[in-house]
Amino acid sequence: MALSPDQLIRDEIRALSAYHVADSSGMVKLDAMENPYELPDDMRAEIARIVATTPVNRYPDPSGGELRERLLATLHLPSGCELMLGNGSDELIQILALALARPGAVLMAVEPSFVMFRMIATIAGMRYVGVPLEADFRLNAQRMAEAVETHRPALTFIAYPNNPTGNLFERAALERVIAASSGVVVIDEAYHAFAGESFLPALGPHPNMLVMRTLSKLGLAGLRLGMLMGPREWIAQLDKLRLPYNVNVLSQRVAAYVLSRSEVLEAQTAQLRAERARVAAALDKLPGIVAFPSDANFILFRVPAAERVFASIKAGGVLVKNLAAGHPLLRECLRVTIGKPDENARFLETLESALGSAR
Ligand code: PMP
Repeated sequence: MALSPDQLIRDEIRALSAYHVADSSGMVKLDAMENPYELPDDMRAEIARIVATTPVNRYPDPSGGELRERLLATLHLPSGCELMLGNGSDELIQILALALARPGAVLMAVEPSFVMFRMIATIAGMRYVGVPLEADFRLNAQRMAEAVETHRPALTFIAYPNNPTGNLFERAALERVIAASSGVVVIDEAYHAFAGESFLPALGPHPNMLVMRTLSKLGLAGLRLGMLMGPREWIAQLDKLRLPYNVNVLSQRVAAYVLSRSEVLEAQTAQLRAERARVAAALDKLPGIVAFPSDANFILFRVPAAERVFASIKAGGVLVKNLAAGHPLLRECLRVTIGKPDENARFLETLESALGSAR
């Protein structure tokens, strides 16, 4: 007799809840750190031409072809370092965890941080250890170094800037964590475009450090493209876990073209950084709200009666992310992604009227 999924599927997988994506149809979508700007018409026309002339009957270039070359030309990796492409950086997190999941191996991350670190640890069969940040979301280097000593993680992820808190941890604190680690430390620079700080130039001197980035927040979330950079010996091993055609041919070709017009994406990210300052200043003026400083394309803020405020903003047609139940340090916290000026204005209006009705 056939066994049921409950009998066959690993206990820890049955205990997981799937990564939740909220329905956003008809809403101002400020919940997922996307770039709100479309590409200009001339670029869209060129993308249409590229798609029409791409031989989709053939498998893609397994190594990423022209896209990889273009990225290498702009990233200026230190010598001895290599780059591998993932189907989003989510896939790269998974590849790292699968590679390092020896029996009993630990995956460590700070908390709160990107929820996929924990989820992928479980999927890969690693033991997850979360180290809490301070109440103001700073990383306590002493506590983290002690946790590293105690648990000896094979793999540590640090998002720089961090999601969902938006801050860049102190560089010296991260240097200390890297130095204390015998395992590999991955600096996840998903929000690099909005921060201007990076560990990429430090790749050479740190043999156990890797840097990960994504094109998602830059404006290509739908193409699913992540990059992992680090010492050649590491990338050569990790590349064995990459499924041969993980990045499809349309993503490869379209991304290579869009990156050839990087000035367009740069102008959009500059606009988003300016809008971030405007939204932060507006939040600071609202009574009862604490907005946390952000180096990313979103702002975390604490608001009394967050559940009610979230529901009221949503009823007003704006979708943000409710993190209040996510972690004790995120009590009463919501996260808004920076959108176009009119979207941000709409968010601020709905928030202001939610505060009025919550009082
Ligand atoms: N790392 C961090 C810190 C993130 O916030 C995200 C997306 N929310 C990712 C990685 C994954 O990005 P992607 O898979 O789209 O490249």
